[in-house]
Amino acid sequence: MRKVLILGGGPVGSMVANKLSREFRREIAKGELEVTLLDKSSMGINRAGFTFIPFGYYASDDLVRPIRSYISPRVKTYLGEYFKVTDVDLGERRVKTKGGKVFEYDYLLISTGASFDPTSVPGMRRHFNSFYTSLEDSISLGRKIREMDGGNIVILTPKMPITCPGAPSKFTVILDDYLRSFKEREKFKITYLWPVPNIGPPAYNENITRNLKEREIKDVRDFKLVEVDEKRKLVVGEDGEYSYDLLITIPPHMGSLKGLSIADEEGWVPNDKFTLQYRGPAGNYDEVYVAGDAGSKSLLKTGVTSHFQALVVGENIARDLQGVEDKVYYRGHMGCPYVEEAPSPNSRGKGMLAVWKYGVPLNPFRPARSGWKIYRMYYYLFWDTTAKALL
Ligand SMILES: Cc1cc2nc3c(=O)[nH]c(=O)nc-3n(C[C@H](O)[C@H](O)[C@H](O)COP(=O)(O)OP(=O)(O)OC[C@H]3O[C@@H](n4cnc5c(N)ncnc54)[C@H](O)[C@@H]3O)c2cc1C
Repeated sequence: MRKVLILGGGPVGSMVANKLSREFRREIAKGELEVTLLDKSSMGINRAGFTFIPFGYYASDDLVRPIRSYISPRVKTYLGEYFKVTDVDLGERRVKTKGGKVFEYDYLLISTGASFDPTSVPGMRRHFNSFYTSLEDSISLGRKIREMDGGNIVILTPKMPITCPGAPSKFTVILDDYLRSFKEREKFKITYLWPVPNIGPPAYNENITRNLKEREIKDVRDFKLVEVDEKRKLVVGEDGEYSYDLLITIPPHMGSLKGLSIADEEGWVPNDKFTLQYRGPAGNYDEVYVAGDAGSKSLLKTGVTSHFQALVVGENIARDLQGVEDKVYYRGHMGCPYVEEAPSPNSRGKGMLAVWKYGVPLNPFRPARSGWKIYRMYYYLFWDTTAKALL
């Protein structure tokens, strides 16, 4: 009996678990192979949809499913806080969970994603609002936006890396279109504070920079946060202060396995940029793969990127199980949807799925109506296509 163990039932873990359970259904039926998946939650959440929640594009039910509803019954699933991974011993090939249960493996996939640390924003206590952290936070932010009749809205990203670096700017564009459609836009001022010079690769950055400018959104790049002064309602940076009535923060991220010996000091689990095999503080382990948001700090973290990585890792674990030495390489395919405009009285929405890879830059692109439509449809398709490894 050989054992594949998958940590995390998000997009990456579910794709790989479902692919293996389909391709090796005979071996599983004969008791020669076991595919096991652990998740600290029983519910899967498509977080990428949080950007749209404040504006009513999706209901909560569209973005949340019981993990058992999209993982093949051929996979052994252990779900809930009791199965939160608390220790990974790569030398002994053992994973320990909060409830004390120990799982052994021949092949391991680490796909536990990213977590957030709002408490690490200097000065921030009561004024934390975000569409990143949870469905509830996203719903509550929507309520606050609807209640406003004017004022300063500041969108603050203090630090990289974050998952989906395009999402804060997409949110800002959709916010602007919402205010133009349902409020008196001229009574609002929107400020976008971004910690690095560019948003995405040059062609993405070019589009979004123009877009924010045309919308008269104050776009501050390379912003270095000093603190949030809640008393004076100011975001204080090294080069200026920005007053807010509503502050929206994308909190600093960390890997979900922070504190474990296999992770770096921020919790990311280092992997080779081509093979996605583990290459971290615990050594080099070819039977251990890391994919999706959980991986090296330097690898782009988006759902699109996670999808491409899951395809590679799923295929290579399948080859490992078949004893095939040749492997497929991750050639750095990554991507992020771009939003030019959300539907408003003047538009039916425009967007584009931007995709590039190592050494091949993103081409200049023109957003289209179909780009917005496909992006909107994808959140419904996700559960029955991506999560089930049919795409
Ligand atoms: C607001 C927002 C907008 C986004 N927009 C987009 C977008 O438009 N396009 C795009 O491509 N991407 C987008 N993303 C990014 C996308 O959601 C992620 O890249 C994707 O979810 C990563 O998948 P994953 O499987 O690696 O991790 P996750 O989806 O985070 O899944 C990880 C799983 O591991 C489990 N887990 C975590 N820790 C443990 C533990 N210790 N023990 C057991 N289980 C554990 C979790 O419960 C979870 O089920 C967005 C993200 C956010 C937050």
